Amino acid sequence: MIWSGLYAEVKECFDLFFPPLCLLCHAPHRASPDSSFCPRCLSGCLPVTSPCCPRCALPFATIGGGDHVCGECLLHPPDFAWTVAAGLYEETLRHAIHRFKFDGSIALDRPLARLLEAAWQHTAPAWIPDLIVPVPLHPRRLCQRTYNQALLIARELGRHRQIPVDPCLLVRNLPTVAQAGLTARERHRNLRGAFALTRPLAGEKVLLIDDVMTTGTTARICASVLSSNGAGEVALAVLARARRNSMLGLETTLRGEIEGIS
Ligand SMILES: [Zn+2]
Ligand SMILES: [Zn+2]
Repeated sequence: MIWSGLYAEVKECFDLFFPPLCLLCHAPHRASPDSSFCPRCLSGCLPVTSPCCPRCALPFATIGGGDHVCGECLLHPPDFAWTVAAGLYEETLRHAIHRFKFDGSIALDRPLARLLEAAWQHTAPAWIPDLIVPVPLHPRRLCQRTYNQALLIARELGRHRQIPVDPCLLVRNLPTVAQAGLTARERHRNLRGAFALTRPLAGEKVLLIDDVMTTGTTARICASVLSSNGAGEVALAVLARARRNSMLGLETTLRGEIEGIS
């Protein structure tokens, strides 16, 4: 107790002269206990706000009005009960995810997981899963990248909330071509049969973790595999939710990226 108090005082003194650097912009800042991002970068992580779809977190283009289930979720209800996203796949969060996913900046796992956890606590504070399961990469992709970004986030969430993480439950059997540029139907065809469970479940509540959600095809198929193999309830947590270009009614996103290049 004495030592921890002494450590805190020494650290505070040290930070005064050598402030930690923001993991994104490298500006010196007084880090908050919950984030390694500076206030400016944190404010650039835009939250998903109402109105949006409670099932898939898709934001609507309209101004005002309450949340309601989107057309896609009405026509084809997903096997996940709800979705929470740390923010929109735009600006700072998009930049952070690119660095986390493609540039090997795995130290971003903790601050990104904290953002996601905060959104989860805001959306469904009483919902506690029995198991956290990341969307898997195909082994070939895993060999190229050397890490699964969804697993890093799942591990951080599990460690912080003391919930078991099972990285071997959901596996990817088939290599799939990159999803960008495909229609929803083509994405579904591309991914159908690509996922399987290594063991059946017995009614567990599962929190499925992915990095970016655009059309949601990957998450839908993973949730379907979990539900049809005994999961009691599935919810989805993603780092970022991309908007859909509802003006054109097409399965394109504002940035034209990226789900499935996972
Ligand atoms: Zn910053
Ligand atoms: Zn929806």
